[in-house]
Amino acid sequence: MTDDVLCCHELYRFYRCGDEETPALRGVSLRIARGEVVAVVGPSGSGKSTLLACLAGLDEPDGGAVTLGGERVSHRPEAERARIRSRRLGVLLQSGNLVAHLSVRANIQLVQVRTRSGERPGPDELLEQVGLRERASALPRELSGGELARAGLAVALSNDPDVLLADEPTGELDGRTEQLVLDLIRARTQDSRGVLLVTHSAAVTGIADRVIALSDGRIAA
Ligand code: ADP
Ligand code: MG
Repeated sequence: MTDDVLCCHELYRFYRCGDEETPALRGVSLRIARGEVVAVVGPSGSGKSTLLACLAGLDEPDGGAVTLGGERVSHRPEAERARIRSRRLGVLLQSGNLVAHLSVRANIQLVQVRTRSGERPGPDELLEQVGLRERASALPRELSGGELARAGLAVALSNDPDVLLADEPTGELDGRTEQLVLDLIRARTQDSRGVLLVTHSAAVTGIADRVIALSDGRIAA
């Protein structure tokens, strides 16, 4: 068995609009080892969100392959990608992580009914970890930006994933809350899990074992 929790090889993704073709990813290869936090940085438009979506199986690359714990995710039917995602992956996007008409607790429960049980933490424990225990019954629209980001993290962790993929997880947070979230993310790697974070924050790159810089859809040397 491989020691990588996530691996991608020569990923390509083109966006086509009429005759225009934007290459968003141009041959990106990377691996995340067990216990590793990798940060991805790069200017706006360099392909960070596209990379994250392809790694998460939310988008399909035009070329290349993604494997999660040795299992190929790319170029499979959506139902299979969804099954692999629900067992192995936590995904935290910049917005849209919660179902609007469900409370924070119900959002966590919704993920948990679809995934294996095992040793995963319950909703109250997850909310305690992100400092939101008293907001369990709140609807997403009743939360501040920072609370929403932490609730999204609790939802992303509720299937106890092997890999957490997060796009700007601390973008909305003040310094103290950012540290709380980073401690929580860092603690996940003690159990041989992996984390990939897209970020602009120096505090976030500070907890990373490795920083990968994207430029124009490629990994910069
Ligand atoms: P980043 O997250 O680093 O800002 P993105 O991955 O969002 O970069 O975008 C990479 C490139 O792909 C940019 O040139 C962007 O304009 C283009 N792009 C992203 N999403 C789409 C889309 N849905 N349709 C067309 N072009 C897109
Ligand atoms: Mg982006």
